[in-house]
Amino acid sequence: MSGMSDVKARVTGAVDALEGRLRAVSREIFEHPEEKFAEVRASRLLADDLRAAGFEVEVGTAGLPTAIQAVHPAAAPGPTVAILGEYDALPELGHACGHNLIAAGALGAAALAVASVKRELPGRLLFLGTPAEEGGGGKVVMIDAGVFRGVDAAMMFHPASFTAVDHGSLAISEVRLEFHGVAAHASASPDQGVNALDAVIQTFNGINALRQHIRDGARIHGIITNGGAKPNIVPEYAAAEFYVRAAETAYRDELLGKLERCAKGAALAAGASFSMSEISPPYKAMRPNRALGAAFTRNLESLGWTFDTKDLPFGSTDMGDVSQAVPAIHAYVAICNRAIAFHSRDFVEASRSERGHRGMLAAAKAMAMTAVDVLTSPDLARAMQAEFRGE
Ligand SMILES: [Zn+2]
Repeated sequence: MSGMSDVKARVTGAVDALEGRLRAVSREIFEHPEEKFAEVRASRLLADDLRAAGFEVEVGTAGLPTAIQAVHPAAAPGPTVAILGEYDALPELGHACGHNLIAAGALGAAALAVASVKRELPGRLLFLGTPAEEGGGGKVVMIDAGVFRGVDAAMMFHPASFTAVDHGSLAISEVRLEFHGVAAHASASPDQGVNALDAVIQTFNGINALRQHIRDGARIHGIITNGGAKPNIVPEYAAAEFYVRAAETAYRDELLGKLERCAKGAALAAGASFSMSEISPPYKAMRPNRALGAAFTRNLESLGWTFDTKDLPFGSTDMGDVSQAVPAIHAYVAICNRAIAFHSRDFVEASRSERGHRGMLAAAKAMAMTAVDVLTSPDLARAMQAEFRGE
């Protein structure tokens, strides 16, 4: 086997050589945004490139039509490293979370860079295409189906307004609240109506009162999805969707119970009936593997990047569930200035910008080098496992 630094120079060189292709993949996914579980075009595009790079590709893994499990054929005894790609977009905004860059960066790292040297390395290389991160929990379904069994390290990068690797995420639950009342003419016979919209409004008021009494960093936020049909009909059906988030899964569940009590109280006051249901599998909080993160940090720093530590925003991701199942990192790589929020119109622009693509290429290189570290360093593999087991 050639020296480690030589292998790393070759994987970064492979990313450089395929820069044009990776930019094209990112642009193609950006220009055809597909929402959760409908990423048909993106998954086909990635699967074709993975096949061309010699991977054994399965589309439709875990019963999800747009999930991908791709295995490099050069498997030898040693660790298994998985590089993950997301490719779903948001309603109305399109690629306001930069998943087009995630997909292209993961493809570049796994398929094009590490695959080019894989025959010289021990272990197994996987590319996992994970649909529906924006609600839907593709990774949760894939974990439950056993896709991560035997994986020693899982990694992905996410474009952001900052660069960080040991940054956590919030556990999240997504629920729908539904209220049923009685329709009646709102002017001629309002006394015969039971107003389901009142129950929704009182639920928001109850939750707004609750905010004074919740821990810092927890989040409860919702929208009204059904608020009645016409002003002259007392709304017989109204509904809202809420996300509840907290740093710890147990506290998230406690807050979910409080939200349910607010809604039940509101329904009781309005005389409406009430039900609550899950919209998506809940996501666990991210538990970044520090040993793996340190390797990624060294590799990104070797490309001249520095890291941010102050005032980093917290979101939620189904990579949290992966990190509770196997040693994992979810690295953030800066593609815009710190003032720009995820899921904003400005982040859409950043996701197709030159700076966005430079970030994607740097992330692909750092992930490829980190995959080489995992495959070739028994010390790193031991440190990751010891940390993961809490030793
Ligand atoms: Zn995202």
